[in-house]
Amino acid sequence: MPDTRRAVPRTDDVLAHPDVLAAGGDLARAQLKGAVRRALQEVREGSLAPGAVVARVVAEVSRPVAGSVPVVNATGVLLHTNLGRAALTDGAVRAVVAAAGSTDVEMDLGTGRRARRGRDVLTALRDAVPDAPDVHVVNNGAAALVLAATVLAAGDADGPREVVVSRGEMVEIGDGFRLHDLVASTGARLREVGTTNRTVLDDYRAALGPRTGMVLKVHPSNFVVRGFTGSVEVRELAGLGAPVVADIGSGLLAPHPSLPDEPDAASALRAGACLVTCSGDKILGGPQAGLLLGEADLVERLRRHPLARALRVDKLTLAALAATLREPRPPVLVALDRPVQELTARAEALARDLAHAGVDAVATPSRAAVGGGCAPGLVLASAAVSVPGDLARPLRTGDPAVVGHVDGGRLLLDLRTVPASEDGRLLEAVLAAGRARR
Ligand SMILES: *Cc1c(COP(=O)(O)O)cnc(C)c1O
Repeated sequence: MPDTRRAVPRTDDVLAHPDVLAAGGDLARAQLKGAVRRALQEVREGSLAPGAVVARVVAEVSRPVAGSVPVVNATGVLLHTNLGRAALTDGAVRAVVAAAGSTDVEMDLGTGRRARRGRDVLTALRDAVPDAPDVHVVNNGAAALVLAATVLAAGDADGPREVVVSRGEMVEIGDGFRLHDLVASTGARLREVGTTNRTVLDDYRAALGPRTGMVLKVHPSNFVVRGFTGSVEVRELAGLGAPVVADIGSGLLAPHPSLPDEPDAASALRAGACLVTCSGDKILGGPQAGLLLGEADLVERLRRHPLARALRVDKLTLAALAATLREPRPPVLVALDRPVQELTARAEALARDLAHAGVDAVATPSRAAVGGGCAPGLVLASAAVSVPGDLARPLRTGDPAVVGHVDGGRLLLDLRTVPASEDGRLLEAVLAAGRARR
């Protein structure tokens, strides 16, 4: 082994290198030093050649920060959690940019007085769901559930109250987080009823008592149970007399013909739920947020609870959500309803152009899904361009970044999740990836 330590460049020499100065001159000093420190550590560990340090540092400080690289979602999953769930409407994007500086978030510019935070979001939500007497917005669906469980069941001087929930609705939402653990973290006591596959009304009835805080109805949004199954609808649960909270998950505000099995806020409220909780960045098509819609006095208690302040949404979120609600159809619903014939025609045209340029590409039927905790089991007929699987990496790391899915050694670029206006960029990206591979 040669003595690599002698070959490790000095930090100050790297920092003073003209290429590093040019690339990182505008960067906070600590960030630039951090990049140099990481590169030198790699040299010590033998995974980076000393001569490659400057290039590594330049590459690190020049790339966009994680989470800000725009991606063409060609996965066929409409709401892809790893790609940030819903893409915002153009109006919501404009609202976020406008809200980035100082804004009228808590001021009525007409009177100069303090105004209610998020007032247009609340108005828009009440207009969208007339069955909801009042609404409140928090950071995400999980936060909405925590706030509801805290107010209704975390307890009083006599101890915790109970949240009655079916064993068939004890859901893991991803990354190891489970909804019932979330509810239990508030101090509420879980009262599990029924079995994994079947729960009947009498199971709930037997569990209700003086310590019942709420009955929780959770939409199993990322799996389906088939066979000998049974669950109890909100309408029947509401007849038991205890407050029913319906976690519908996806944020569908009213029934949608393309999503017949997906619960919606208006129907749950009409069926007797006192409160509905859901996400803002699933089928609603907005920013990450949690919505609480329900009885006026209950929503006021949620709003006044000290925890509400900790779950308060940012001004950017409020601006994006209000703009989303004003627009008729967010990109996720546009994608849901793209006719498959149109997708097939686009796939064939793209495959033809690619084949013409020497890329091994064919159009193929494919299956898309809503994803992201919405409409589990629903298969959306779609069309894809199939290209060699070894294009996956150059496409992901290209500009624009394109993410598809690999199936049997082929990379499928599903067009249901790609707006037609992006086809030109997609074509260029595949051509560039083909060149990069050679
Ligand atoms: C997605 C989902 C959640 C969590 O919502 P987030 O906005 O991701 O916090 C909770 N419950 C159900 C039923 C869901 O589908």
